[in-house]
Amino acid sequence: MNKKYLLPLATLAISVSANSVANEQWLNCGQLLDVKSGKIESNQWIQIQDKKITQIQSSAPQQAVNVISLNDKTCLPGLMDMHVHLDGEMSPKAYVENFTLNEADLAFRSQEYAMRTLKAGFTTVRNPGDSYNVTIALRNAINQGWVQGPRIFSAGKSLATTGGHADPTNGTNATLMGNPGPKEGVVNSVEDAKKAVRQRYKEGADFIKITATGGVLSLAKSGQNPQFTDDEVKAVIDTANDYGMHVAAHAHGKEGMLRAVNAGITTIEHGTYMDKDVIKAMKKNKTYYVPTILAGKFVAEKAEIDGFFPDIVRPKARAVGPQIQQTFAKAYKAGVAIAFGTDSGVSAHGDNAKEFEYMVEVGMPEIEAIRSATITTAKLLDIEQQVGSIEIGKLADIIAVDSNPLEDIKTLQNVSFVMKDGEVIKK
Ligand SMILES: [Zn+2]
Repeated sequence: MNKKYLLPLATLAISVSANSVANEQWLNCGQLLDVKSGKIESNQWIQIQDKKITQIQSSAPQQAVNVISLNDKTCLPGLMDMHVHLDGEMSPKAYVENFTLNEADLAFRSQEYAMRTLKAGFTTVRNPGDSYNVTIALRNAINQGWVQGPRIFSAGKSLATTGGHADPTNGTNATLMGNPGPKEGVVNSVEDAKKAVRQRYKEGADFIKITATGGVLSLAKSGQNPQFTDDEVKAVIDTANDYGMHVAAHAHGKEGMLRAVNAGITTIEHGTYMDKDVIKAMKKNKTYYVPTILAGKFVAEKAEIDGFFPDIVRPKARAVGPQIQQTFAKAYKAGVAIAFGTDSGVSAHGDNAKEFEYMVEVGMPEIEAIRSATITTAKLLDIEQQVGSIEIGKLADIIAVDSNPLEDIKTLQNVSFVMKDGEVIKK
């Protein structure tokens, strides 16, 4: 501040006026998708000041400064993925990396994955489960402006039961196995459940993730057995709600899903063997379904490659993988609320938008698929006043694609412009 007074007056005048326009920008969108009405408006001008949208109009402004021309593009709100794991990516090396990589290695790598995600048009993500709280640190670094990346909601470490999906020492030898407890995210009683939730809160988690059933990629036999008792699930949810956090449940099998849904879980992730009883309970409890079709397709494909997965994982990947898309189709048709999620980190970061294609392929209209990744997800995260649509007063999270996504959903796989919080990320 003081230094400015040392500048010659003329320089000062220039720098002040440069500053006053520097935080004003205009986007000229050839087409603009209103996700709420489902309508496309042509030739729209959007004014952005600081981080927010301050004006939307169909005529060119009299004095437009810092205009970014997107007049051959379709603009829409930044996309949101409710299931990514920014701290890793599946490959034949991934299991060994648990023993070779340090926390700092994961942290640096996660920033690269975060950028791929953001440049693919995903301006907000939810990260249900990580190692070493890497995505909590990444979220903080992004919020501080130290590094770029999407807006992150992180669960920190997933909560599991002993030997369950996300017990961090599954499959290791006896020396390494130890006896992880609630501090490490492993619970075996109601008291453990409360402690584990409070520990996550202390560590800075935004929400809680539990592994309500077995999982595909863990080194354990069953991919679908229930793994929490009714009272353990309830203790997790009640405690989390006390601390203002929602709870997401990884679940493949019916019984684990039912326990979670009936106890008041907010989201079911994967939901592979969801049947009509589960669907009924989800509708009654207004539970969101986060399908992750992309992950299902990825593991089914890789299970055919010798050596890609450990032997204990391969049959689970073969069985679960191909199911998810059909389950999604069934749940959508039955009226379950769908929140977009991919489980990226199983598949490659940055490929997230393939999920839209898979959703539309089995009967979801394009506009509904886009709403599931904008308005619905904003509501799920309780940030619908800030993001989820392009409206005056909301944060300027805006992306642009080459063609109309209501006619060509695949265009979302090739995002050409990304703005987050008023900052141009990709042009
Ligand atoms: Zn996951």
